[in-house]
Amino acid sequence: MDIQIENHMPEGFVYEKTYDVMHGAVNGIALLIIPVKALNQFRIQLHADIEKSGVKDNFLAFLQELKQRHSTIQYTGYNGNDTITLNVESTERDDKDNLTLIVSELTSKCLECGIRNCCSQCRNVLPLRAAALDGTPVLLCENCFTQEINGTSGQNGQKENIFLGLLGAVLGTLLGAVLWVVIGMFGFIAGIAGFAMVFCGIKGYDMLGRRLSRKGIVICIVTACLMIMAAEYASLGIVIYQELGDMYYLSLVDSLALVPAFLEEPEVIQGVAKDLVIGYALAIWASFSSVRHIWRQVEQSQKPHTVVPF
Ligand SMILES: [Zn+2]
Repeated sequence: MDIQIENHMPEGFVYEKTYDVMHGAVNGIALLIIPVKALNQFRIQLHADIEKSGVKDNFLAFLQELKQRHSTIQYTGYNGNDTITLNVESTERDDKDNLTLIVSELTSKCLECGIRNCCSQCRNVLPLRAAALDGTPVLLCENCFTQEINGTSGQNGQKENIFLGLLGAVLGTLLGAVLWVVIGMFGFIAGIAGFAMVFCGIKGYDMLGRRLSRKGIVICIVTACLMIMAAEYASLGIVIYQELGDMYYLSLVDSLALVPAFLEEPEVIQGVAKDLVIGYALAIWASFSSVRHIWRQVEQSQKPHTVVPF
């Protein structure tokens, strides 16, 4: 397939040389035609509301019949959603006539069945425009196009709520703190609880805050660090309660209130410092790779797309 695409284009189409794609509308239905040089074929792409049309079976049967009638059609496919694909073999000499006829029959059938174009992104039935999204040709509605241009796509209209997110992070890390205290009661340093804290904190932030941003992840990590200290404090209070509660008639609240006084003892402060250092180190070791993974996911989802209108 070594042809000048411009001379082989069906009526009503425009060729975008940079992205190697033809776009146009026939019978009011917008289509993309992408030359697939390696296969010596043209790929006709139609985005339409097939599922909602109520005539899906009829339309898919028509595609089979169209394939039988035109020997140049090598493949017809439906992605089960909203995209119809037809691969048409290039004969070079008759490409223009072949493609013109096939797109005309295809779009006439759409008209007859009441099948309308839908946006390749949001699937709403709206007027479409052709554009290159991250270098790939697409047909987008005006809303999705504007969102892509402004870099506000992929947010599902959900705005991050930092206050509720923080609340979620506190509740999530609190679960981890309980784990820290329980493991501490058995005399272990609870690094794994630090991991649970970070993880539950991020989950909590995502759930209540509606959306997780990189800022949210930092908030969760800071919350988890503070919560580890709180958990260590609580652990110490519980130890005091267990050791001295009976002897001095101390309640759990009394024991917790005594923690600062105990922390003035060099021996106690040394033990706590050791617990915290090892605990933090284990927590960082355990959660590093998963936090990095989530961070990259968030980064990817927030990356602005490049969209170039045709
Ligand atoms: Zn859209």
